[in-house]
Amino acid sequence: MRYAIRGAALLAMMLVAGARQLRAQTVRYGVMGDSVTALLRAAWTDDSTQSERAYCVQRARISSRPTLGGGIDSIFRVLAVRPATPTSQDPNHVQFECATGTPELHTHTPATCLTDDASSCRADGPLAYSCQPSRSDYEELLARGDEYGIIQCDRRAFRFYYPSEYAAQPHKARTAVGANSSGP
Ligand SMILES: [Zn+2]
Repeated sequence: MRYAIRGAALLAMMLVAGARQLRAQTVRYGVMGDSVTALLRAAWTDDSTQSERAYCVQRARISSRPTLGGGIDSIFRVLAVRPATPTSQDPNHVQFECATGTPELHTHTPATCLTDDASSCRADGPLAYSCQPSRSDYEELLARGDEYGIIQCDRRAFRFYYPSEYAAQPHKARTAVGANSSGP
């Protein structure tokens, strides 16, 4: 009985601590300024054979405000971008470098391309308009030390991504996933 009470008290403490931790999280909002949105919308094309394109953020304002409960909202407001000169580009990649401290924006195309050759691309399909950063997008972000990166994945759609999204997961010993596989 003592143990049960102690257990209940411990559980209550853990729940309170958990709730506090939840409220203390930072939530990040990315906002594109009107002139930036206008520029990027105008440059967007639905050509299915296009290569990815790139921009450097020229001017941005970051503001934070505490929320009730101890959390923080961070707002990343992008006010100016300029086209970057790629060192190489194809429908699935764009290689470019913005100056240190200047976050990067690149496009994902409205096409599905089976290889990096434009002749393998078709409009739409499962890989088109992808707003998901790739592994190399995250690795580049972390290597540069930027606070955010941006993907334009449709004429009007912009996806901000952050280093905290690319976190190491605690290893879980789960074998169920592979139970039905017949691989070596
Ligand atoms: Zn990408």
